[in-house]
Amino acid sequence: MVKEDSTYEKISDKSNFSEWYNQVLSAAGILDMSYDMKGMFVWLPYGLKIMRFLQHKWDELFQNNGLQEVYFPQIVPLHYCEMNEAWWEGFKDEGYKVIAGSDNKVQGALRPTGEPAIYPLYSQWVRTRNDLPIRMYETVSSFRYETKQTRPLIRDREITNWFEIHTAHATKEEAVRELDSHVKFMDYLYEEMLALPVFRVNKPLWECFPGAVGAYEYYSLMPDGKVMENGSANNLGQAYSKKFNIKYKKENGSEEFAWMICTGNGGRFLAAAISEHGDNKGLVLPPRVAPIQIVIVPIIFKGKEEKVYKTVDKIKAVLDDLKIRYYLDARDITPGRKFNDWEVKGVPVRIEIGPKDVEKKQVMVYTRFDAKKKSMKMSELKKLDKVLEEIQKSMLSKANKRLQNSIRFVTKKNEITKVVEDKQVAKMYWCGEKKCYDELVSVGEGYEGFGTSVELQSSGCCCACSKPSHEELFIAKSY
Ligand SMILES: [Zn+2]
Repeated sequence: MVKEDSTYEKISDKSNFSEWYNQVLSAAGILDMSYDMKGMFVWLPYGLKIMRFLQHKWDELFQNNGLQEVYFPQIVPLHYCEMNEAWWEGFKDEGYKVIAGSDNKVQGALRPTGEPAIYPLYSQWVRTRNDLPIRMYETVSSFRYETKQTRPLIRDREITNWFEIHTAHATKEEAVRELDSHVKFMDYLYEEMLALPVFRVNKPLWECFPGAVGAYEYYSLMPDGKVMENGSANNLGQAYSKKFNIKYKKENGSEEFAWMICTGNGGRFLAAAISEHGDNKGLVLPPRVAPIQIVIVPIIFKGKEEKVYKTVDKIKAVLDDLKIRYYLDARDITPGRKFNDWEVKGVPVRIEIGPKDVEKKQVMVYTRFDAKKKSMKMSELKKLDKVLEEIQKSMLSKANKRLQNSIRFVTKKNEITKVVEDKQVAKMYWCGEKKCYDELVSVGEGYEGFGTSVELQSSGCCCACSKPSHEELFIAKSY
């Protein structure tokens, strides 16, 4: 029996976030966490449906923008890994080695990221300028032997449903334009699809992906006040093309290394959305990514079944016309149990229809996001697509408010601890020097300077050295 409908598990108050998070994943049928391999989890049917739906959205988005999907093997030959020492240095202790054959020889590594698998092939594919740009992406698993505490979808040893875009360009300018488009992709997936506002920040160079010349990183604000790194778009410059020998011959005979961009994200999208929108009853899914947007629950009394189901058919016809994803829950259990099941699973709208509603030519409409229930005339059902859009907008604006209210501007170093211990994010002017950065970040244990604001409005004095500054640094505790 697949554990799909076990929704009577107890869910803690969300203020106890850690416990709440695991309970929701289990009760809503997202993951089974009992698989006996640390940091690896089983996707359950409903969870996988949500994740695949999101993946379908990024497939559509990327392919409509000319990116092509590819697949590279999960095992990376060791000599590919060693082509970039700086990269391999960062991963070799957190890597899974693949040993095979009777002599137990190490054959390769389970890929921690895609570069060492993909770039040796790019090197073979690029000969002339006409071979560029290469614009590809794949959705795969990545493997990290995490030594910190693992957490489903947040810190996994197998990171599933992970997309990576890897592009190579003839010129620096073209690469920068590509990076800008990736930023738009990420913004679309966060804000438009998941109703999630995020911190989009610039990373100081020493914190970028090894060899990168710049990066936009995305951070989500979790309910416990910590921030979670949630994807990045990296300008690799020519660092990787030089390591992997990806170059082309110019018309004058000289050689030019390709300019490269890589962008990745995956399951953490879902972790952030669950954490942001969920409540004490379970999941709350944004309508645009909910695999089931509306659930229809008939309230049946003996002898009146036919009447009710006739009306259900009319409702279904309207929802079909509106292209709404719906599910008719005709199970032989009490309506209360059904209500509970779909609330835990976060279905945005529930339509209840009983014999009295049939007589009054109406249905009851319950919205999961604000837990409100009201009647709706049958003749108004065609407005349900607008109801879903309203929910989507309200969810984004509620999340946005929480994010904005969590940021506090500080002008003195000793104010940082107070803000962070208050489960908020401290923002301050910073001169850009590593020395000052280290000084500001080290005021509390587990603090992270997670980047500088991309949208700068003003300038002031560095919170550490008081020199004139034009960058605004964020500090918080992080995952
Ligand atoms: Zn300074």
